[in-house]
Amino acid sequence: MDKRIYNILDILEDMYSDAKPGLEYTTPFELLVATILSAQCTDVRVNMITRELFKEYNTPEDFANVDVRALEKAIYSCGFYRNKSRNIIETSKILLKEHDGQVPDSLEELQRLPGVGRKTANVVLSNAFDIPAIAVDTHVFRVSNRLGLVDAKNVDETERQLMQIIPKHKWSNAHHWLIYHGRQVCSARSPKCSTCKLAKLCKYNMKFQGE
Ligand code: SF4
Repeated sequence: MDKRIYNILDILEDMYSDAKPGLEYTTPFELLVATILSAQCTDVRVNMITRELFKEYNTPEDFANVDVRALEKAIYSCGFYRNKSRNIIETSKILLKEHDGQVPDSLEELQRLPGVGRKTANVVLSNAFDIPAIAVDTHVFRVSNRLGLVDAKNVDETERQLMQIIPKHKWSNAHHWLIYHGRQVCSARSPKCSTCKLAKLCKYNMKFQGE
C-alpha cells in the first residue's frame, strides 16, 4: 500500500480508537428503524426521537400495526416524515411476511426493504451483525476524497476504493474514523486544516498550500 495512505489510516485509527455508532439501539430492528430515520437528519435528532418512540413501538409487529398518522407525528422532526413512516411500516410488514420478523443479515435482502439503500444496509450489517462493511455517507465521501484515500465521483466508487485499501477487519471501524474526522475536523464548509493532524498527508491541503 502507498505509504502515505498507510500513514493516514494509522493516524485516523490512533485519533478515533474509541469511535462508535452515533445511533442508539438495542436490537438489529431498532438500528434498522433508526438508520432509516437518519437519512438527511443528524444522529442526535434521531436519538431524541427514538428514545421516546421505542418505548411504545420497537418490534416489526408494533410498526406493522401502528397508526400511520401517529407515527408521522412521532418522527415529524427528522424530516421526510411521510416517506420515512411509509417505509418503516412497509419494511416491518415484509420482515414479518418474509423473514419471520427478523432483520436479514445480507446486503441483497436488506436492500430489498423499502427505505433501505446500500449505505443503510452496510450500517446495519456492520453494527448489528459485526459483518465487515463500509457505509459511505456524506462525511466518509468528503473526507476520504479530500485526503486522497480515494479518487471517486460517487459513494459507490468511494466504497469500492476504500475496500481495496483498508484491511477487511478494519472496514467497520474505518467508517467511524472518517465520520468522526468529518464531524470534528474536516467539515464541509470550513475544514480545520491548520490544526488537522493529517494536514501534511492530505491531498486537499497540499493542493491549497501549493497555490
Ligand atoms: S487537512 Fe484539511 S481537508 Fe485535509 S483532512 Fe484535514 S481538515 Fe480535511
